[in-house]
Amino acid sequence: RAKTAGRNALRFFDPDMQQAMNRRAQLEAQLHNALRLQQFLLLYQPQVDTKGGVRGVEVLVRWSHPEQGMVSPGEFIPLAEDTGLILPLGHWVMETAMRQQAQWRRDPLLGSIDVSINVSARQFHQEHFVQMVQELLQRTGADPRRIQLELTESLLLDQVDAVIATMQALRALGVGFALDDFGTGYSSLSYLKRLPLDVIKIDQGFVRDLLDEPRDASIARTIIALADALSLGVVAEGVETEAHFQFLQSHGCKRFQGYLFGRPMPLPDFEDRARQCPYPPA
Ligand code: C2E
Ligand code: MG
Ligand code: MG
Ligand code: MG
Repeated sequence: RAKTAGRNALRFFDPDMQQAMNRRAQLEAQLHNALRLQQFLLLYQPQVDTKGGVRGVEVLVRWSHPEQGMVSPGEFIPLAEDTGLILPLGHWVMETAMRQQAQWRRDPLLGSIDVSINVSARQFHQEHFVQMVQELLQRTGADPRRIQLELTESLLLDQVDAVIATMQALRALGVGFALDDFGTGYSSLSYLKRLPLDVIKIDQGFVRDLLDEPRDASIARTIIALADALSLGVVAEGVETEAHFQFLQSHGCKRFQGYLFGRPMPLPDFEDRARQCPYPPA
């Protein structure tokens, strides 16, 4: 320990680094109580069709920290994964999202919206994950056909056979799957063929520079064609401009998510957005 401390000693005199480490350590310590103190909340981001009508929603967690304000999941989800807190947190996210779906269930419009929930590797691989999902479905009364779990490539490629078995068991409950951030990991086409997926999400990294980077445009087009060839749905993430929307649409993409159609928003705003005429005047 002394040896490495010696080698790393310089780091502790870098004030920025020190500050970042303090923040991380502080957040990590406070994360343990955040769930009990009800500091987490969910935001809802619409997924729309070519006419702008809301067809789905991605549920995104935020930490409303008493001193730091809103902390983004990009910062605390990795901490939650490291500490194991992702298990109770993930359970809370899923339960809250399912309760919401159950409330919408009898509404002709809101009840038809697909609810996408992010699931991290550690959650997915936990013992009794399938039973947990089943129990939550029963307890909340959510319609399993409206629940979609978002998994990442790295999760899917580790222990593929076990992953497929778990996915099949969940699928038997009626739950669907989206492959999140597609293109950023290392999925091979043969795995893609074997995995019981419903939807591929084009990572926003390819969408962002679509109009300036011909190679990103090619990748986006190829992912759309691939999804089509495999009879999977495709959702483009990070659609921020009309030009992005037009390009993706002209290449056959039919579902979109991004700031152009709405940022992640509080529940009442989302419900208003969903209830707006799904086919706005041109
Ligand atoms: P993700 O699942 O890929 O979610 C999409 C992210 O892109 C969200 O960031 C969303 O706010 C952002 N985004 C959506 N549209 C646009 C756009 O047009 N432009 C740009 N620049 N960004 C856009 P967010 O909410 O900060 O979440 C970051 C990541 O944290 C998520 O990426 C997901 O991996 C993770 N995460 C969020 N909520 C949960 C959760 O409940 N459980 C788990 N395990 N992970 C979560
Ligand atoms: Mg996601
Ligand atoms: Mg994503
Ligand atoms: Mg992402």
